[in-house]
Amino acid sequence: MITRSALIYLSEREGLKDFATRFSPFKKLTTRFVAGESIDEAVEAIRRINAEGCTASFDHLNESVTSVAEAEAEVREYLNILEQIDKTGIRSNVSIKLTQFGLGLDPELAYKNARTIVADAARRGNFVRVDMEGSDVTQKTIDIFKRLRSEFGVNDVGIVLQSYLYRTYEDAQDLLKIPARIRLCKGAYSEPPEVAYPAKKDVDENYVRVMKLLLSSGIYHGIATHDPKMIAATIDHAQKEGIGKDRFEFQMLYGIRRDLQTQLARDGYNMRVYVPYGKHWYPYFMRRLAERPANIWFILKNLLKG
Ligand SMILES: Cc1cc2nc3c(=O)[nH]c(=O)nc-3n(C[C@H](O)[C@H](O)[C@H](O)COP(=O)(O)OP(=O)(O)OC[C@H]3O[C@@H](n4cnc5c(N)ncnc54)[C@H](O)[C@@H]3O)c2cc1C
Repeated sequence: MITRSALIYLSEREGLKDFATRFSPFKKLTTRFVAGESIDEAVEAIRRINAEGCTASFDHLNESVTSVAEAEAEVREYLNILEQIDKTGIRSNVSIKLTQFGLGLDPELAYKNARTIVADAARRGNFVRVDMEGSDVTQKTIDIFKRLRSEFGVNDVGIVLQSYLYRTYEDAQDLLKIPARIRLCKGAYSEPPEVAYPAKKDVDENYVRVMKLLLSSGIYHGIATHDPKMIAATIDHAQKEGIGKDRFEFQMLYGIRRDLQTQLARDGYNMRVYVPYGKHWYPYFMRRLAERPANIWFILKNLLKG
């Protein structure tokens, strides 16, 4: 039995990354979760998503860059994305990862690079979501986000919190005081029991606790999950508290529970789909397999079919 942590471990192996990204049959299978390798392919995917009544968040895949030049190339890519969003008229904001902008090399570099993107998005009336990565960078990510938020508005830049971390409820309380727009997710990385709930039941309970805190804050947040129980709890809480459907949004990943995505949009909820694209899909793809190891059988079946 391949476990979640084994798949996450594989997602972090550089050698496998090189092999997988060159192995074309494997690459073909990523289309289930990745919109393509180019901006144009992602724009086309977002047009289809918009036509189904959903908005999107553009994500260029390339986390943990290892040189200043690579981080700067990411800045250029995101400036181009923001320009393409305006040119094509698609309804989309952007999601960034600070390790993509050099957080692993120098936090100041990551801040400056992220600032360039947030400034451009703010000028265009768009919004930047700072994704949350592994717990080794949680505090650094929050610190950089707070700096950005002190310079830009609540509708210019937002952050992500993960319900598997023990610290998240307090982080949410703290960030709401600024105030900040938060995307709540369960968390996709492999974390030790010292920092994160090992049992799914506790992660889910914490998700509901934080979701209630966010929704009742009056600020516009993103409830990111494919879990029907989390979605039902959100709808229930909003109805009981008289929180309108326009006061928050659901968010899901490209290619996952498309039925639920369109259903929620048809029911009048704001639904945003996270659309990743790019050549460096390997760690993202492996985390999606880890979330649902049954996906492995889908991959193997399709590989054997050729
Ligand atoms: C918009 C968005 C942004 C995110 N941003 C971040 C981030 O910044 N940082 C971070 O750590 N994590 C992020 N995540 C990932 C998140 O943390 C979870 O790993 C992921 O969403 C799976 O959790 P779940 O809430 O769907 O619940 P789960 O309990 O994992 O899954 C519930 C159900 O959803 C379906 N499902 C879930 N995942 C898959 C899959 N891969 N394939 C097929 N079906 C699936 C299955 O039916 C499953 O039973 C994001 C998720 C979303 C939706």
